Amino acid sequence: MTTSTEWFDRARAVIPGGVNSPVRAFGSVGGTPPFSVKGEGAWLIDVDGNRRVDFICGWGPLLLGHSHPEVVDVVQQTAADLMCPGGSTPGEVELAEAVVARLKAVNPDAIDEVRLVSTGTEATMTAIRLARGVTGRDLVIKFSGCYHGHSDGLLAAAGSGLATLALPGSAGVPEPITSQTIVLPYNDLDAVRAAFNEYEGRIASVIVEASAANMGVVPPLPGYNRALAEICHADGALLICDEVLTGFRTGPAGWWGREQEDPERGNWTPDIFTFGKVIGGGMPVAGIGARREVMEHLAPNGPVYQGGTLSGNPVAVAAGIATMRLADDAVYAHLDAAADRVIGAVKREFDRVGVPVAVQRVRNLFSFAMGDGAALGWSGVDEFGSPAPVNEDEVKRQEGWRYPAFFHAMLDAGVNLPPSVFEAWFLSSAHDDEALSHFEATLPAAAEAAAAA
Ligand code: PMP
Repeated sequence: MTTSTEWFDRARAVIPGGVNSPVRAFGSVGGTPPFSVKGEGAWLIDVDGNRRVDFICGWGPLLLGHSHPEVVDVVQQTAADLMCPGGSTPGEVELAEAVVARLKAVNPDAIDEVRLVSTGTEATMTAIRLARGVTGRDLVIKFSGCYHGHSDGLLAAAGSGLATLALPGSAGVPEPITSQTIVLPYNDLDAVRAAFNEYEGRIASVIVEASAANMGVVPPLPGYNRALAEICHADGALLICDEVLTGFRTGPAGWWGREQEDPERGNWTPDIFTFGKVIGGGMPVAGIGARREVMEHLAPNGPVYQGGTLSGNPVAVAAGIATMRLADDAVYAHLDAAADRVIGAVKREFDRVGVPVAVQRVRNLFSFAMGDGAALGWSGVDEFGSPAPVNEDEVKRQEGWRYPAFFHAMLDAGVNLPPSVFEAWFLSSAHDDEALSHFEATLPAAAEAAAAA
């Protein structure tokens, strides 16, 4: 039998870094990534025969866990019938209808149409092109620590000082492209107002994660998203709400939908939504959604071009439709309760070993920031009343050096956590009592390893 170590050696000979997406390489925790061969509900099995409770869930798509039988069934049936027609199919209509229906159930004016693509990167890239096409403006505001995929203009890093045009965040990205992006701190409305003052009438859009979840989870402060919408609309800019990660995971209509249930947070509508991950149930599907007057700017109706050979692929779409159909209120209630249990256990064990943690959470999506928040100057408050980070600068102050020891203790004991402290933990409806009990049993020793690090 070929081991994970041997596969990783072979991988590094033919794939850059041995991986097809950087975070999989274990760069921040060290060691050899396991090579998976099978997923069963909440469990992931590697070539070495290890069976682990999985808290990555494909980085979000697997709301129902690995290889849900009904999802597998429709994928197999559809693949046998029609894999790549190069033309229209009923499935893409059904998936678009399912997405529109879920958002309209919260606000009938939220969206009318959805264009399907294959990755979240395509969705946000297209959303920005669309916003520029609609407004005839070039500049885009994004927030540091928010991730929207790897298109050039979104791989931007803040320049020095607020409201300055950004620098490339990756080699190979031309400076003239990132100079169309303004990178601001998250959860800071004064910075947004200052940028709109400085570049009045020139900003096409603000793009924001519905809740930040790519620097660990950092919830938007109550009213933050609503204020972003108001500031955009007062200037004629469009707000893009990126629900690639949070959409159909944190609730039936995403984190936007959850905020509308809460008077302190609700009463706002973005101009463009982006979706991904859960919408494809583990297959490559993502989407852009908006009201008709915005969407009609897209080709073939309008002048903003976008297309894709594999867009709306029937096999991929079948997985998405099945996942959305099965993700009912009971699934979301289960996920919330499972999150309560995991968070409660982590909080208890870290308290016991004397490492303070901030719980960073939007419903069933969460992560933990380690360290004495008061000493680190965290300006937010978590659900337990502890100081919590509210932006990337604060998140980065945490005692992240404790995480590799915690991560490897969990991995060795059969729990698959995200290989970076700056990633969210993902649950599924398959995370049952057996899976969560296994997690709880591994936790004390791992918390002690974190404390000793
Ligand atoms: N937006 C957000 C909020 C994301 O979390 C991600 C991926 N993690 C993307 C966009 C990009 O999606 P993809 O990796 O499918 O290109």
